Amino acid sequence: MHQELPTFVSHLECSATGKHYPPDVAIGLSEAGKPLLVRYDLEAVGQAIDPEGLKTRRPDMWRYRELLPVRKAQNIVSLGEMQTPLIPCPNIGRRLGLGEPSRLMVKDEGRLPTGSFKARGLALAVSMAKELGLERLAMPTNGNAGAALAAYCSRAGIEAFVFCPADTPAVNIRETGLQGGRVFRVDGLINDCGKLVAAGCEAAGWFDFSTLKEPYRIEGKKTMGLELAEQLDWRLPDVIFYPTGGGTGLIGMWKAFDELAFLGWLKGPQPRMVAVQASGCAPIVRAFEEGASEARMWENASTVASGIRVPAAIGDFLILEALRDSGGFAIAVSDPEIEAARAEMGAEEGILMCPEGAATFAAYKNALADGRVGKHETAVLFNCGNGLKYPMPDDSQFIDLNSPIDFMELTAPAG
Ligand SMILES: *Cc1c(COP(=O)(O)O)cnc(C)c1O
Repeated sequence: MHQELPTFVSHLECSATGKHYPPDVAIGLSEAGKPLLVRYDLEAVGQAIDPEGLKTRRPDMWRYRELLPVRKAQNIVSLGEMQTPLIPCPNIGRRLGLGEPSRLMVKDEGRLPTGSFKARGLALAVSMAKELGLERLAMPTNGNAGAALAAYCSRAGIEAFVFCPADTPAVNIRETGLQGGRVFRVDGLINDCGKLVAAGCEAAGWFDFSTLKEPYRIEGKKTMGLELAEQLDWRLPDVIFYPTGGGTGLIGMWKAFDELAFLGWLKGPQPRMVAVQASGCAPIVRAFEEGASEARMWENASTVASGIRVPAAIGDFLILEALRDSGGFAIAVSDPEIEAARAEMGAEEGILMCPEGAATFAAYKNALADGRVGKHETAVLFNCGNGLKYPMPDDSQFIDLNSPIDFMELTAPAG
């Protein structure tokens, strides 16, 4: 039963200084206080597996195990992280005058366990916590990461402590509690919750599971990039729109494309990476436009898209690097644009996005209008969470069975 997986981790590397660290020990940030990245012996990976060899494997994120760090199969903590669909948008494509078949696609990550792509990162990170013998994990979260942490920890027999900003949606607090997490609201923003976690780690021996403060969550998020490449037969889209908070997914996908390029599996060029933020919290957009290599903290952050309300990201320099290296950009959209985009995507394509996912559609439309993306280009939008978790509009339509019903009026176009 104690099956060793063919793993190829060679070392951990400081993302800022390049200093090497040994793998297989519990570790947070590098000595420089920067995120650590997992490095693999990619030559050996290339000898062990090729795209053809993947085809017979189960359709989930663990099919890429040679590019993942878990060493023992029994440490994999899984809730069924299936491949998420890549859904074309033919109706919107027609309206926007894109070519046929539509070059606009939504990668719907809302289908994953716990209803968001946080499942990918935390399935992997909690599996590694199990492998490394950690017993108490703590994190600050705007909601979805906490729910995923709680779910995977409960399965693994690990305790989860979750701290959310005061106005985190009730559904996130409740799902976290119901899945066995110890969850608290805190009267502050996500960075205040982060400070609280750091203090608790000192005082109570929790392990800090904040975004990018341990090396493995990004490896789970990386599977979005591996999966996208495989779904498109190793020909990546021209542009990827990613709703960017801490940026784990964007950094992770960029890392994935780099590894795939090294392996020689990619048939075309790398995509342009686009970081989408809300205009009420856009530190990365500001830094990108200023030509800065790091982002200043965003004061008074506010947006309906709580998953991207991250005023300061520890991986800011990595996000900015990926945007620039890929020839991409950063773009901010307003809350009204997000709401409108969400309604359009639902009504025209039947895709119920979360506000953060809708932000990518709003950003795509703006970038199409100002020429930063062409109509002939293939674009993928990331819908990162299940739309059902978020506030939805009007539910007041009512039929009184005791009054006459005017079916013609019912049938007339709404509005
Ligand atoms: C966490 C989250 C994001 C941001 O993802 P990062 O990879 O941390 O930037 C966006 N949308 C939703 C719904 C999220 O839960």
